[in-house]
Amino acid sequence: VNQSSLAFVRAVFREYYAKARLQAPPAIETREFGFLQFGEKSIIRHLSFSNIEQVRRFAAENGPASISYSTAYYRYPDRQPMVAKEPYRFDLAFDIDADHIPTKCKRQHDFWFCQICDVRGPGVRKKCPVCHSEVVLAKFVCPECMNAAKEHVRNLIDILEGELGLRMQQVQISFSGRRGFHVRIFDEEVGGLTSEERREIVDYILLKEIEPRRHGFAFEQRGGKRVLASGPAVREGAISRRIVQVVKRYLEAVEKKALAMPSFLRPSGALLKEGEVVWENLGLRTYDEIRQLIECANEYAGVSLDPMVTCDDARLLRMPSSIHGGTGLLVTVVDDLDQFDPFNDPVVLSDDPVNVHIHYSPNVVLRDQPLGPFKHEVRRLPLFAAIYLICTGVAEIVG
Ligand SMILES: [Zn+2]
Ligand SMILES: [Zn+2]
Repeated sequence: VNQSSLAFVRAVFREYYAKARLQAPPAIETREFGFLQFGEKSIIRHLSFSNIEQVRRFAAENGPASISYSTAYYRYPDRQPMVAKEPYRFDLAFDIDADHIPTKCKRQHDFWFCQICDVRGPGVRKKCPVCHSEVVLAKFVCPECMNAAKEHVRNLIDILEGELGLRMQQVQISFSGRRGFHVRIFDEEVGGLTSEERREIVDYILLKEIEPRRHGFAFEQRGGKRVLASGPAVREGAISRRIVQVVKRYLEAVEKKALAMPSFLRPSGALLKEGEVVWENLGLRTYDEIRQLIECANEYAGVSLDPMVTCDDARLLRMPSSIHGGTGLLVTVVDDLDQFDPFNDPVVLSDDPVNVHIHYSPNVVLRDQPLGPFKHEVRRLPLFAAIYLICTGVAEIVG
């Protein structure tokens, strides 16, 4: 993205914050704030504000690409180093990102391109195969991956309430502004959990460190071959039930070829029969491979989350009611996950027309307006769409 595009986006963001109604986090005076400026790589941290109006004024002056605040509550949020801040409580926070859920749509909407040679290709790549300069990665989302992310949020809440028995009064789900959701639990009940205790919760959710033998997995010798003879019985408890559920969904996707065949599966017949997993047909050879299957299945059909966001004591997370510098979309508190439309509800910028030169863009639908696909063309687009394409890195402002 060139300098005039950056300046343009910054001006648009400043204008947004000039009249924005921002939502203050609980106990705002105890939070560390961070801002990322456009064109910079590192966040300005260790800031603190005593009210949301101060945050708004700072943002209106700077037009930042992100505003985030700490999951920790500090006695002295602006002191350095981190220990001097004296944290005394934490929100329990989770980050679910569609990017990490292996949906097959990514091959259709994620690509790299080289601005120098005008070559591009699907998926992820670091260097241009022609000139070896750094390529631009353009990642998009579609209803398929965002629906998968929603499903993972529902699964997460089910585990927290149903299995871990958290009686959550203050849960906030927010659209992160780009590809996923943040879940924050503000309740005092979880505020005293240590980083290690939060790590245990994450491992439990991610079905890590599973001991397969404890969940009914057993190998048998059959005709000189080691065969997985049984898997978990659904009635054997919450984890067993969850293992069976995610493995089923995962194997269905493999059978439908929505997912590539992983190396640890060596099918010798149908993977599923009448909706049940046929364990002996999977070709699993070791307990390690069972663990791999469970983790992959969970990542696809259970809960895929970034463990660091939950465990890191010094974490900053995007503030709802700010706008995301990678999209121009609003970081939105989601009251009704089913009804929330990530291609409509977070579109807050105006539709004043502006001219942009688009290198390349797949088909994107924003605020019910189909945009693209575009290739090397100058278009007059509504502001929200122009900002979306510039911020994604596939377009530049013209004039
Ligand atoms: Zn090149
Ligand atoms: Zn997608």
